[in-house]
Amino acid sequence: MKDEKVIPISIPTPFAVGDVNIYLLKGEALTLIDAGPKTKEAAAVLKSKLLELNLTLEDIDQVVLTHHHADHAGLLDEFPIDTAVIGHPFNEPYISQDPVFIEKQQTFFTYLFKRFGVPADMESASLTVKRSYRLSCKRSLTKAVTEGSRIDGLEGWKVLETPGHASSHIALYHEKSGRMLGGDLLLKPSSSNPLLEMPQKGEKRPAPLLDYLASLERLLDLPLSVVFPGHGESITAIRELIKRRLEKQRNRASEVYSMIADSPLTAFEICRKLFPAVYEKELFLTMSETVGQLDDLETRGLITSGETGGLVYYMIKQVEKWQTD
Ligand SMILES: [Zn+2]
Repeated sequence: MKDEKVIPISIPTPFAVGDVNIYLLKGEALTLIDAGPKTKEAAAVLKSKLLELNLTLEDIDQVVLTHHHADHAGLLDEFPIDTAVIGHPFNEPYISQDPVFIEKQQTFFTYLFKRFGVPADMESASLTVKRSYRLSCKRSLTKAVTEGSRIDGLEGWKVLETPGHASSHIALYHEKSGRMLGGDLLLKPSSSNPLLEMPQKGEKRPAPLLDYLASLERLLDLPLSVVFPGHGESITAIRELIKRRLEKQRNRASEVYSMIADSPLTAFEICRKLFPAVYEKELFLTMSETVGQLDDLETRGLITSGETGGLVYYMIKQVEKWQTD
């Protein structure tokens, strides 16, 4: 069978990241990879770009979500109710805006951020959670896919679980041609943010940066020819970009390590030092990044944490073991 073309469609978003790329694949089924955010402008652009291809929303058989974020999933609400929605099971509570889940999230992050030392007068975790649903949808998965799944009508593509940026994150890999529909796993203009999430399985807080690093390492082992990303241009110098991202992360981890060399600090105190200009405006993002580095250092046995008066402090474990490699 001949390899179907991957047709990129760029959709505007009101987010700092800029446009989102969604992709049309004409196989046995007409498949769209991601949908875009739920804005009037995005809906108009999608409809007009489909029209240029002699298509309407009604012609799309299925939408495959790379992950649950609003800039990728929100526009699902524009699609007819019988359009199939396919993605990792972890998408479901987010894309359906399950009220019980949202309430749990608010409680979880309020508790977590308090322990991390975030002052009470900063934007409440509840509000941050609420805001993350602003341009999202109210749809449900019609089919859940996990590692190794194949999708009907999309021959030759295999699902890879690639958590980190989101726990629901998947990539689609075309083994024969080495092409990958990568979502936000690897982006050229900026590094993907591994965002803190509430656990959906078990009690333990996920460590998104550790998941993300493992997902990137996985890419290094695959024979890839091109990655079609969720934002920015297609990537062909893939290994190079991954190595650069990994190096940048290690440097940031060293920076965090040296910050706690003198005395133990809370994650929030570290966050303020690491991102002095933006931590107030982008508290969730910068806290996610900071905690990610702390998780990495702790996993490598370089630092440890302890609780005093309801606050978690991070401190150095064994100075002589520190290496920057
Ligand atoms: Zn995203």
